[in-house]
Amino acid sequence: MTPIARNVTRVIDSVSTLEGGGFPVRRPFPVAGLSHIDPFLLLDHLGPVTWAPRQAIGAPAHPHRGFETVTYLLEGAMQHKDSAGHQGKLTPGDVQWMTAGAGVVHSEMPESRFYETGGVMHGFQIWVNLPAREKMIAPRYQEIPAAQIPEWRSDDGAATLRVIAGEHGGKRAVIATRTPIMLMHAKLMAGANVSIQVPAEMRAMCYVIDGALAFGANRERGNAGQLALFDAGGSVEAQAISAGQFLLLAGQPLNEPVARYGPFVMNTHTEIRQAIADYSEGRLGTIAA
Ligand code: MN
Repeated sequence: MTPIARNVTRVIDSVSTLEGGGFPVRRPFPVAGLSHIDPFLLLDHLGPVTWAPRQAIGAPAHPHRGFETVTYLLEGAMQHKDSAGHQGKLTPGDVQWMTAGAGVVHSEMPESRFYETGGVMHGFQIWVNLPAREKMIAPRYQEIPAAQIPEWRSDDGAATLRVIAGEHGGKRAVIATRTPIMLMHAKLMAGANVSIQVPAEMRAMCYVIDGALAFGANRERGNAGQLALFDAGGSVEAQAISAGQFLLLAGQPLNEPVARYGPFVMNTHTEIRQAIADYSEGRLGTIAA
């Protein structure tokens, strides 16, 4: 049986805002009236922004508890440090999948050489919720260099998909996700089509990085900075009106209460108060100098 191609039910515009120490992001959610799209809690499109030497801004030390942060870099260089003594570096095409679980304090900053020279920074941060039973698990990092991310290519070469999470066309991601998630970066030449099988139990959405695309069986147009939400069904279809790129996000909804306050996402306000207390009293640790 061929799964039914999904329709687009809604196209959401991003808001432009500043995050961390003051770097520019476009954010389709959370925004007023749309706190999350279960199981995703946040989608931030950082830049592209051109920094002059010694001007680049990141996110100094801050905590997280109760979910996962996914950082995907397209241009530039980032470095992070955390309260568990972990350090890492991200260059174009790399992914960091951090399971904050019970909590970490970390910094996400421009890499020192990039900071000195300046240049273009461009990337994404996605927050993936954890189910109640996993919110307090030990933190974990998965750092995947660009070369380890499988790439699917259409027979004519007009469409490519980087498979960051999930599976497409026999290419299976190397990242282990706590809940069933698909995350893919599609690049389409003008006129190219792609059809991505998404399991029926997952919610699906596509965020347009650049270009103009038509999504879904109903061919709704999505432009740069817009997020197309799909209804239930099977495949996600996209056609490039002009050459374009998008991110596909899909995941199985948790259907649990969401209590969120800044960098903490739990199920109840009591758990949020506990997270704030644990952080303010130093129980989430500190980053060593
Ligand atoms: Mn963070």
